Amino acid sequence: MQRLSRRAFLAAGAAMVIRPALAAGSDFYDVIVVGAGVAGIAAARRVAAAGRRVAVLEASERIGGRCFTDTQIFGVPYDRGARWIYRSDVDALAKLGRGAGLDVYDAPLRQKLRIGWRFAREGEVEGFLAALVRANRAMADASRAGRDMAAVQALPKDLGDWRATVEFALGPLFCGKRLADVSVQDLARAAERDSPAFCRQGCGALVAKLAEGLAVSLSTPVRRISTWRGISYVETPKGTLRSRAVIVTASTGVLAADKIRFEPHLPKSHVDALSKLSLGHYERVAIELEGNPLGLEPDDFVLEKTAEGESAALLANVGGTPLCFVDLPGAVGQSLLAQGEDAMRAYAIEWLARLFGSDFKPAVRRTHATRWGKDPWCLGAFAAAAPGGQAARKVLMEPVRDRVFFAGEAVHETLWGTLAGAWESGERAADAALKQISGGGLRERSNRPAAKRPVRAPAPEPERPSGGFWIFR
Ligand SMILES: Cc1cc2nc3c(=O)[nH]c(=O)nc-3n(C[C@H](O)[C@H](O)[C@H](O)COP(=O)(O)OP(=O)(O)OC[C@H]3O[C@@H](n4cnc5c(N)ncnc54)[C@H](O)[C@@H]3O)c2cc1C
Repeated sequence: MQRLSRRAFLAAGAAMVIRPALAAGSDFYDVIVVGAGVAGIAAARRVAAAGRRVAVLEASERIGGRCFTDTQIFGVPYDRGARWIYRSDVDALAKLGRGAGLDVYDAPLRQKLRIGWRFAREGEVEGFLAALVRANRAMADASRAGRDMAAVQALPKDLGDWRATVEFALGPLFCGKRLADVSVQDLARAAERDSPAFCRQGCGALVAKLAEGLAVSLSTPVRRISTWRGISYVETPKGTLRSRAVIVTASTGVLAADKIRFEPHLPKSHVDALSKLSLGHYERVAIELEGNPLGLEPDDFVLEKTAEGESAALLANVGGTPLCFVDLPGAVGQSLLAQGEDAMRAYAIEWLARLFGSDFKPAVRRTHATRWGKDPWCLGAFAAAAPGGQAARKVLMEPVRDRVFFAGEAVHETLWGTLAGAWESGERAADAALKQISGGGLRERSNRPAAKRPVRAPAPEPERPSGGFWIFR
């Protein structure tokens, strides 16, 4: 996902050491983290750094969630999910990645606009950018006026023949949804996504690197979290673990689908918030193109002037490799996903042909299409709030029964839908959980690995009710 900036236009599986969490003797932890995506890894690192005992339970067979680098399919790093690291001058992930010896490099400022078979002329780019600026201003005005309506309603009426392109850029490309389905306040409050960078080894490789040394149990889906007298019981097919606090980082799509049962049930406020933060769609077709037949530079980003409000976007020669990403955001990605990988590949190739002609087709080698919307542990891309739903993010920041804390990209007011938002939300949830289990102030930080610390004697185990916990409601 990419936010278009005036500046940009005008400027023209790492090896992992994962300790098995469930093999350790005691089943009692200070904090259990559900999910080993960006938010989960951030949370677990924070808890471990505070010298507390933490386990990460991950449903799938890998680390990273929606941030995953595949090195098998093409033999070069292929980010199936997140690729752009925004605000890389201040971003924690960018800093940690560089510190860990990964090549985090500035994204070239070369966003290009295609009109049919040619690149847009300077005046045309100016026209598009002016329309984009006016649209952003109008949404900011509507947001300031306190009206949380559909973003599309706030758009100026006279965007002319740029309207559809503006709607595509701000809607599907940025939010994974049509502007009619997005809260104007959510969009207006979204932080500027400038200073973008890429990680040559892949963003997923970066996150996997940061997970090294953490106790992560893969293929361990959490089915139920029951809280009883200050202790949480976290049920998985491999057994039940207990903890003083639980940090849940599963996507809002997974939570809304009731893949994790909560006992007592989640408060109505949280259930409502989840329904307002449904996931949008964003799929990707990766195409290996031999010999750079499109004649583009490494990491060139291209979109088209569209008349329809639905389109695709291209990231070419990713990291200097022959890999090109055709991103299919919003309804286009959703409907093609339902039709299957062949349909996604065919659409992506025909879309490229619409922009560059068909001569490149013989250069097509291997291809791959993502399935985020059907991945049972994601069920979508990222969560732009529905009209009237911006406040839902704050609701999800509230812990349930002082023991269950939520984190993840959706639980961030300005950086939702990004790696940075997921990371910050994980750290924030960890701080809140640590504060809670310490009975107030944070314990002194320590960088000692959690496993070398003596395991605190578990609190006396309360007798667990055999039936549902409805009595608390
Ligand atoms: C195609 C695509 C492109 C994107 N591009 C960008 C980009 O360029 N830049 C950017 O900043 N962001 C981008 N994003 C968004 C970014 O990937 C996400 O914001 C971020 O990765 C979300 O991290 P998370 O930890 O909140 O959630 P997740 O990554 O979903 O992590 C949650 C984890 O919980 C696990 N889980 C779920 N249910 C259970 C359960 N019951 N028990 C145990 N574990 C469970 C999941 O398997 C997963 O590993 C993109 C997303 C997509 C899909």
